[in-house]
Amino acid sequence: VENEFVDYLCSQLPPHPLVRIGPGDDAAVLAAGADEDAVVTTDLLTEGVDFLLDEVDARRIGRKALAVNLSDLASMAARPEAVVVALALPRAGGFRLAVELYEGMLPLAEQFGTAIAGGDTNSWDGALVIAVTAIGRLTDRGPLLRSGCQVGDRLLVTGSLGGSIAGHQFDFRPRVNEALQLHADYQLNAGIDISDGLALDVSRLVGASNCGAVLQLDTIPISDAARCLAKSSSDGQSPLDHALGDGEDFELVLAVEPNEARRLMADQPLDVRLTDIGSCVDQSGLWSACPDGRLIPLHPTGYEHQLDG
Ligand SMILES: [Mg+2]
Repeated sequence: VENEFVDYLCSQLPPHPLVRIGPGDDAAVLAAGADEDAVVTTDLLTEGVDFLLDEVDARRIGRKALAVNLSDLASMAARPEAVVVALALPRAGGFRLAVELYEGMLPLAEQFGTAIAGGDTNSWDGALVIAVTAIGRLTDRGPLLRSGCQVGDRLLVTGSLGGSIAGHQFDFRPRVNEALQLHADYQLNAGIDISDGLALDVSRLVGASNCGAVLQLDTIPISDAARCLAKSSSDGQSPLDHALGDGEDFELVLAVEPNEARRLMADQPLDVRLTDIGSCVDQSGLWSACPDGRLIPLHPTGYEHQLDG
């Protein structure tokens, strides 16, 4: 439904000379100067949807609100520069809550050299809503977009996937430095961060590039948290199901031409492991490869916001 609305919105928005990349990617790219582009993204976290205040320390929520934006900048290979923070605070205990949210945000902002440059602080008789808008700058390599996948590209993913609900969803390190390093030293064709689930986000990545993807299911890096979750819950979901469909891994999926991917896989230049999980194919949609080479459709599992009407 979220995608459907974005499609509708795009059809309503007249082209604007400053908008280089509009809705539909991980962030917008705006002409900011003679030959400079700015990258802008925003994310909204709502109590009751994204977290429960009586279960999570507000500092971790503040940190996450910033971190998810940094992850979107990372997926564009942009360097974060500044954020503004909008809060709708519940009136009761709102001051203390705001202090704690910022206590969580400040160390992460400092770590990534990002200024907290302003925002808006309101109160109301509703739940906590926190919206962060982040601004980044591109390197001379330009933006990494969803739409750059070429048929034949390998799909590489950072880290391991699934089970983020056990804590990674709050404590993850946005892959900003990793993205900048890879974008500088290798030829990356396209990228996305995994916010809603590997399968869903890969299908968005290749969908934006007008191609499809085949995932080699036995290569997908499964996190320990995904294995624990599969063992401890009785919903019948395997560790692989969690790796494919759980949201909020905030790892990067990159499309890389095969020879370059081979070089990248051999170098393993990051502190975190890169895994080759599949490739881009002509046939649209998401597929998994059987051992005999046959392709079977793979459902793009993941988290989508629902709208009624
Ligand atoms: Mg994203």
